[in-house]
Amino acid sequence: MDWKSKSAFANKNEVEEYAKQLYIYSLHIQRKYGKFPVELQFYQFRIRHKEIIKFSKKSLDNTLEWVYNIVKSIEEEQFYLPMDFDVGKDADFFCRCLCEYGQNGICDYYKNYSQKLEGMKRCLI
Ligand code: SF4
Repeated sequence: MDWKSKSAFANKNEVEEYAKQLYIYSLHIQRKYGKFPVELQFYQFRIRHKEIIKFSKKSLDNTLEWVYNIVKSIEEEQFYLPMDFDVGKDADFFCRCLCEYGQNGICDYYKNYSQKLEGMKRCLI
């Protein structure tokens, strides 16, 4: 089970997208206990809803393929850059608040962007 602050899922496709995280976790369960879980769960505590997803080998395989393709694109340096930070006002949230490469000025891409926005003033909360 993973706890989510998210409100209701919009549809089944969104549940499947989020479930990739749980399928990745299920690999650890399999290694530790010798078998995959029967079901995966999200507990959306804000709406007090438990989303139960029946474990599916096909979905696990799809998730692993998704992970493989992302790793491959990173290794081939097909990053998702240039990121369009201007898409939404909070589009740089991860860089600004969560990613230590962004916070510590290591990422050139974000450094250039943040210089455009008068340095890192926005992070000094
Ligand atoms: S700061 Fe750089 S490395 Fe970190 S999330 Fe943003 S673009 Fe990626």
